[in-house]
Amino acid sequence: MSQAHLEASLDPKDWGDLRAQGRRMLDDMFDNLEGLAGRPVWQAPTPAERARYRTPAPRGPADLAQLHAQFMADVAPYGSGNRHPGFMGWVQGGGTAVGMLAEMLAGGLDANLGGRDHMPIEVERQVVAWMAELFGFGAEASGIFLTGTSLANLCAVMIARDRALGVEVRAIGVRDPGVVAYASKAVHACVVRAMDMTGLGTDRLRLIDTDADGRILPAALEAAIAADQAAGLRPFLIVGSAGTVDIGAIDDLDALADIAAREGATFHVDGALGALGILTPAVAPKLRGIERADSLALDFHKLGQAPYDAGLLLVRDAAAHKHTFSYGDAPYLRHAERGLAGGEFWPCDYGPDLSRGFRALKVWFTLKAYGLDALGAVIGRTCDLAQALAARVEAEPELELLAPVGLNIVCFGYRGGDNAAICADLQEAGRVAPSTTTLAGRTAIRAAIINHRTGPADIEALVDGVLARGRARAA
Ligand SMILES: *Cc1c(COP(=O)(O)O)cnc(C)c1O
Repeated sequence: MSQAHLEASLDPKDWGDLRAQGRRMLDDMFDNLEGLAGRPVWQAPTPAERARYRTPAPRGPADLAQLHAQFMADVAPYGSGNRHPGFMGWVQGGGTAVGMLAEMLAGGLDANLGGRDHMPIEVERQVVAWMAELFGFGAEASGIFLTGTSLANLCAVMIARDRALGVEVRAIGVRDPGVVAYASKAVHACVVRAMDMTGLGTDRLRLIDTDADGRILPAALEAAIAADQAAGLRPFLIVGSAGTVDIGAIDDLDALADIAAREGATFHVDGALGALGILTPAVAPKLRGIERADSLALDFHKLGQAPYDAGLLLVRDAAAHKHTFSYGDAPYLRHAERGLAGGEFWPCDYGPDLSRGFRALKVWFTLKAYGLDALGAVIGRTCDLAQALAARVEAEPELELLAPVGLNIVCFGYRGGDNAAICADLQEAGRVAPSTTTLAGRTAIRAAIINHRTGPADIEALVDGVLARGRARAA
């Protein structure tokens, strides 16, 4: 063996040095988290800083301490800001120090949760079991962690497709499916994409009108189903939104469950934004009917405050779930009665991934360390802050509320102002970072209050900032 090959292990020669360096890295991240509020939410890296990251692939080694210093100087200050209390853009959680530590442990263990017989899979199954109980899915339900709700929704559409068309669709492909899915106009675009990616086609998704509160109109849904049936099409899937991405509206899930049951269609709920609201009394009653869903997608990286990424798919009918994804009998993935290839639940038979990381650990730590009640209190606070923001907007004659506030999202604007420009001004100023959306053809400033660190002072800073920028632009 050549000398280079003999020395090819990547473990350190001196663990003591690495330990000391590792502690400095950990300390720096604690300092970074502790000082979050004192720094800008977001700032754009300069062209020179970006250019420093365009280098040839490194052939030789570099000093870890130096790489760490480079990260602290050039990467850490230029994140997208979702951890910051002033971040209110899109729908993003803020993570926690506990989640960070769990990520470190998971990285150290380097577990592959595709399958086999090991304890990390038990941890994942425990979190799934907690969620199945919380959402009334029963002990027989299956579930797996995925990157996020986009993928969980895609998997749910696949399971519904196979249920409607028969699992032979896995062999023969989708040919003139003759089936139709339904969701409200406010459904997340990833559901539309799921129709495309499953080969069913986006034309087979009906986007149904909503009421003044942004909730799907059950009567309009029934009319659309009747029209499709008259045209010889079959309803196979109804997707309810437990918190629409634009304004946080929660569909009448009980009504959708009734319609789905009557039509023999699968009932799936996109709970990315609002499902974990079940942990707080202010939201839980609005989610009635979620326990009747055939499948549920949700995100721990939003209101669950776990670090990115951590989405979950729950499926009531575990056998149907497995039918859609099982690997068949690839000889190199054969399950055994005993040994490492044992284990009754191989997640690779329940989702698109074979190799899978240990996402469940950071969620297990987050749920255990804080407890569900504390997370519920955080979620309740995000709703209270949204109500406070809405009240302040309504009290300011220069501002207007542009959507009802049912959860923790507030859409508003500066009367007669350029809301997109005001929003970008605020992001660049670095104190608060809302985003925008379009409602009834108008651009709204959208504040999605998801982060557990956001407090009343941040809400005041947002309103004061919009007023100041709106006035400055009007002058
Ligand atoms: C965020 C979100 C999604 C997409 O989830 P990802 O985790 O970003 O993939 C889907 N639906 C709703 C309502 C969302 O808020």
